[in-house]
Amino acid sequence: MAARHIPQRTCVGCRQVVAKRTLTRIVKGPDGITIDPSGKAPGRGAYVHNVASCWNSALSGSLSKALRTKLTEEESRELSIVMNRLLDDELD
Ligand SMILES: [Zn+2]
Repeated sequence: MAARHIPQRTCVGCRQVVAKRTLTRIVKGPDGITIDPSGKAPGRGAYVHNVASCWNSALSGSLSKALRTKLTEEESRELSIVMNRLLDDELD
């Protein structure tokens, strides 16, 4: 019995390969770096778990490497805000 294909992606924080839907997509699109809840925005994407350790690792360098760009200070700040919101939601 063949397992159905589940899209898998690598978390830029911990490098684990897991089902795409368990990760948050961050995309570098025409408007800069944003969170992509739909998973369908155009641009280069990177994926991260909704856990503090993965986000911290992503924001401290692996994200910009994955997206092949340098995060501006503003983008880093925005992502930190999003991170805190996502992590708060997880605790509910
Ligand atoms: Zn992770």
